[in-house]
Amino acid sequence: MSDLSTEFRLPSGCPSCGSHRMQVSEVKNPDDKVFCASCRRFVCLWHEAESALEHGPSSETEALIEKVTNRKSE
Ligand SMILES: [Zn+2]
Repeated sequence: MSDLSTEFRLPSGCPSCGSHRMQVSEVKNPDDKVFCASCRRFVCLWHEAESALEHGPSSETEALIEKVTNRKSE
């Protein structure tokens, strides 16, 4: 079984369980679905997640967490 998904941290979090860890396919097409890594709920499409990420974290601490989390998920 090949798992071609990758995890990343979404600033807004899952509407269902509140987790910030999300999964998306490694190819990251704009219309690829982003799922919550905890409860597997469909959260949004990759292009929506991407614009949320571009929008940026609200604080420096948040930025640091995001950096570390995203590096770990590589
Ligand atoms: Zn969730």
